[in-house]
Amino acid sequence: MPHVLDSLVIGSGPVGYVAALALAQAGQKVALIGPRPSVKRDGRTVALLDGSVEMLKTLGVWDAVLAKAAPLSQMRIIDDTGSLFRAPPVTFKASELKLDAFGYNIELVDLVSVLGQAVSTIPQLVRSEETVAEFLRHDNGDCVAKLESGQFLTAGLLIGADGKNSMVRTFAGIASKQWEYKQTAITAFFTHKRDHEDISTEFHTRQGPFTLVPLPHRRSSLVWMMEPSRAERLGLMDDQSFQVEVERQAQSMLGPMVMEGQRGIIPMAGLSTDRFALGNIALVGEAAHVFPPIGAQGLNLGFRDVAALMRALQSTKVEAALQKYNSARKADVRLRTTAVDLLNRSLLADFLPIDLARSVGLLTVASIAPLRRFMMRRGAGH
Ligand SMILES: Cc1cc2nc3c(=O)[nH]c(=O)nc-3n(C[C@H](O)[C@H](O)[C@H](O)COP(=O)(O)OP(=O)(O)OC[C@H]3O[C@@H](n4cnc5c(N)ncnc54)[C@H](O)[C@@H]3O)c2cc1C
Repeated sequence: MPHVLDSLVIGSGPVGYVAALALAQAGQKVALIGPRPSVKRDGRTVALLDGSVEMLKTLGVWDAVLAKAAPLSQMRIIDDTGSLFRAPPVTFKASELKLDAFGYNIELVDLVSVLGQAVSTIPQLVRSEETVAEFLRHDNGDCVAKLESGQFLTAGLLIGADGKNSMVRTFAGIASKQWEYKQTAITAFFTHKRDHEDISTEFHTRQGPFTLVPLPHRRSSLVWMMEPSRAERLGLMDDQSFQVEVERQAQSMLGPMVMEGQRGIIPMAGLSTDRFALGNIALVGEAAHVFPPIGAQGLNLGFRDVAALMRALQSTKVEAALQKYNSARKADVRLRTTAVDLLNRSLLADFLPIDLARSVGLLTVASIAPLRRFMMRRGAGH
């Protein structure tokens, strides 16, 4: 006998958890389906910006998230390209925007664990730690998920939060475009002797940005982008030599650094889709868009998808609501995909005119107060 619900959320990443919580709190009978998330600490963190903070507050989980996060009260950009037109370091302060912080950095594992805890306390939320083997369509148009155990779950609304290789997207027949950046990110956590003073520091190097983002206490997360061949070499280094390499690249700004846990080695790719919804199926998070980890857009945009979906579902029937959702998300995500793609390519470019433009751009942004505030607001997700 199939289990009939209002909605099925496929995918147990951060966006799937948030979507399931939001739908359940809106009174829906919802199932969240996806394997138990990995607890491997491989350096992956997320910087939660303003809109995400508001969403987590509405869901009642913000205090638990904040207890494990570090505020980003300043952002420092250092030109380490060795270029002829080198810009001086630029520091942006959240206080200039009358904000306590630009965002809050938390380990992905900790965020998902807080969300998992919240999900487990909601009785009308069915949590299945299985994988979907196949999707089917009921005669009445409802979507049916056949789980690996052979169990069937049915609902009038299907939400794909199942990441970049989304099976829901394929089932819906929504086309996607994928591309690669010929870049790899190395991620890791470090403890260090000196205090980071809640400052996130980004070194712009010839091969890509090297960013140290504060975590609670004297800890930071590293996102270091580089050519895949160099990432492979650094990935093979023993921990001691890797630490030395990181400390050298950080110009010993945080004193001696000791790595915690494992290194993550993540090839950079992008993905965009034709649509965000079709019929009674909607896509959220990386099922709909993938970004390189620049400008902290990825997960924040996924949470914005969920906020927009919840707004659209408030007043109308499912299919009309999803049409609204589709139009609302297209413009926002397109704009950010183009901006992050351009930023990423300019940070990697090895051409003199781009060097010059970047330096002039940084200087201009730093020295003209309204422009500076505008850039900071855009970065903080306003
Ligand atoms: C190095 C790095 C740094 C980053 N830094 C930031 C940052 O600072 N800020 C930011 O906002 N973003 C950042 N991001 C992006 C962010 O990590 C992602 O946007 C986010 O994790 C995507 O979440 P998601 O829930 O959409 O997808 P995922 O986390 O990929 O979750 C998808 C889930 O679906 C499940 N699934 C797949 N198929 C099935 C199936 N058939 N049945 C059931 N379940 C299924 C999977 O098991 C998985 O749990 C970064 C990314 C990288 C690589």
